[in-house]
Amino acid sequence: MMEEIRELADEVSKKASKIDSENEMDLELLNLAFQKKLMGVNADETYGGLGKGYVELCMLAEELGKASGGFAHSVVVHHMAVDALRMFGSEEQKENFLKRLTTKEVGTLAITEPKGGSDVAALELKAEKDGDNFILNGRKTLITNAVFGSMFITLAKTENGITAFVVEKDKAKGLEIKKLEPSGMRGSGLASVGFKDVEVSEDNILGKEGKGMKVALATLSPNRIPFAAMGLGFAERCLELAVKYAKTREAFGKKIFDFQGLQFMLADVATEIEAAKRLIYYSADVANREDATVLGAKCKLFIAKVAKKAADVAVEIYGGHGVLRNSPVDRAYRDAKILDIAEGTSEIMKFVIARQL
Ligand SMILES: Cc1cc2nc3c(=O)[nH]c(=O)nc-3n(C[C@H](O)[C@H](O)[C@H](O)COP(=O)(O)OP(=O)(O)OC[C@H]3O[C@@H](n4cnc5c(N)ncnc54)[C@H](O)[C@@H]3O)c2cc1C
Repeated sequence: MMEEIRELADEVSKKASKIDSENEMDLELLNLAFQKKLMGVNADETYGGLGKGYVELCMLAEELGKASGGFAHSVVVHHMAVDALRMFGSEEQKENFLKRLTTKEVGTLAITEPKGGSDVAALELKAEKDGDNFILNGRKTLITNAVFGSMFITLAKTENGITAFVVEKDKAKGLEIKKLEPSGMRGSGLASVGFKDVEVSEDNILGKEGKGMKVALATLSPNRIPFAAMGLGFAERCLELAVKYAKTREAFGKKIFDFQGLQFMLADVATEIEAAKRLIYYSADVANREDATVLGAKCKLFIAKVAKKAADVAVEIYGGHGVLRNSPVDRAYRDAKILDIAEGTSEIMKFVIARQL
């Protein structure tokens, strides 16, 4: 599996700069990921997956994170849709939706709304019963993969609470996708999604009616660990680039690596990366066996700090060349900030951690 991952990451890194500058996913690369069976890492083999767990998903996310933030985030979010179906799908839904997600279609997890993302329970997307169907009206925003993804796992308000639905783009008339221009993790198909009288069959309810929050939380919590592994990839790439640059760039008649001030910055980053790596892979192993909500929050909170610092140090060491668009470290700097926000903000992670103290 590692060979497959490295081959994919090599191809992704060749196109990473273009994906970032154009904010456009390379769909051939996503097809390559499907061909290599890397789009259903933790789905059962019966449904076209690899039958692995969160550790292997982290290995994929870490390598892709080194190559391209936008591509890596797309694959990480796709696996959230895979995981939601793996955990909550009925046999029929797995045969249909999950098999499609592991073999050819990109999934999204559409929770955030224009009025807010942190307070999920306050969402307003409405689903009204109409015979055997539900009619959805409202808007989601900041949805990764929405531009090219074809299966949306979304949350809507029904009569008896919040319900999770699988919405198929090709069947859903009334979906309006508006592409967004983020500063980082570009090319991941980020968009807002309008629902105007979108008809969805009751067969597309994921889990039980009124139990959508359970679907969302059970999916998001462990998947913050692969998300953190992606950030680990950002940090490792920054350290590698910064060390390489410092060992070739000269000032005052010597390599800038020889200045102890820079060595100390790099030593701190290397130490934090080591600590983050242990936390992430330990947590991924735990998540395979038991609830890892708090560990997932710790991984996400910690890697955001580590990756932001690694990117900051890398830009500092590159000097003026570090802030030029298309410098190898500028992209990492923009990508790293998003680790604080997507899949739940750092403040919400602290809230989750503190609640258990
Ligand atoms: C690149 C990117 C990709 C994303 N992909 C997806 C996706 O695929 N699917 C999806 O559903 N969403 C996605 N999101 C949305 C993301 O999950 C939300 O942006 C995030 O949950 C925060 O919601 P918000 O932006 O509405 O901020 P708000 O909830 O409005 O929060 C604003 C600020 O208030 C703080 N805050 C809020 N509540 C509290 C509290 N109780 N205590 C302390 N501080 C608090 C927040 O931490 C934040 O600093 C993505 C976002 C980005 C940037």
